[in-house]
Amino acid sequence: MSKHLYAIFGNPVSHSKSPLMHNLSFQGLGFDGCYTRYLLEEGSTLKETFFNLGLKGINITVPHKEYAYHACDVLDPFSKKVGAVNTIVEREGKLYGYNTDAPGFLKAISEFKAIKTVLFLGAGGTAQSTSRILRDEGYEVTLLNRSENRLEKFKQDSFKTYTFENFTPKSYDLVINMTSAGLEDNSLPAPLEILEQVLPTAKACVDVIYGKETPFLTLCKSYNKPTKDGSDMLLYQGIIAFEYFTNNRYSFEEILPYMKKAFAI
Ligand code: NDP
Repeated sequence: MSKHLYAIFGNPVSHSKSPLMHNLSFQGLGFDGCYTRYLLEEGSTLKETFFNLGLKGINITVPHKEYAYHACDVLDPFSKKVGAVNTIVEREGKLYGYNTDAPGFLKAISEFKAIKTVLFLGAGGTAQSTSRILRDEGYEVTLLNRSENRLEKFKQDSFKTYTFENFTPKSYDLVINMTSAGLEDNSLPAPLEILEQVLPTAKACVDVIYGKETPFLTLCKSYNKPTKDGSDMLLYQGIIAFEYFTNNRYSFEEILPYMKKAFAI
């Protein structure tokens, strides 16, 4: 077997931990693979770029997950339902698409017990897939977003949705920052007055941003809430993608220690 090549496509992509996560796992498990990063500027060229580079599989990050969905010949049922693909594998000239963000996220929050009601702050691409997997698992998901536009799809899919203007605070077991607020600035994902009403009764708080403590998590900690950032989500989506890349040759538990090393470097 010749070496299999993999990559992450995104824009920007220089910050991504995925090459380190996958290369450490290839090396540790003795799989003849190599994973790199590729700055894809134009999403519509995703398919031809994939084949031109002679790749076996890719992960796709912001802002190309919808393009990735359209580039696939075969979609697994969940990615088809949510319209977003973050993992593609080539088999006999065809592109197979999967979404590993959502199951990765589900696993990441599974440590919080007795959670029924969840408030999403944000309604972007990540919220699309994660809200649906949570609902499939029996959670009640409400979405609160800064502006109206992105909420439309969720409304059509019978989610409860609010903007800051029409939100009437209730009690939610889990409050999650699904926005990019705090990623490159010090903003909160919702006005402080709203957060001050929902955080005191929350059982736990989660941020999908990783690698830093966001103002949202700092605020949650001031209420002595259990918190976690997006590192486990990133780790778990990577492991599930690796399972697809290697045709399930290795179990989740076998991959975990190698991929985890990337977070200690
Ligand atoms: P999108 O660009 O699709 O959506 C962005 C969302 O954030 C929108 O709801 C937007 O609201 C909201 N938003 C942005 N800035 C602010 C702000 N200052 N105040 C309030 N709301 C704001 O992004 P994604 O859904 O793809 O990504 C969201 C976050 O998830 C990012 O931080 C990303 O890094 C993280 N992520 C983490 C992963 C992990 O493995 N840990 C995996 C994937 C994503 P509006 O509609 O009003 O513009």
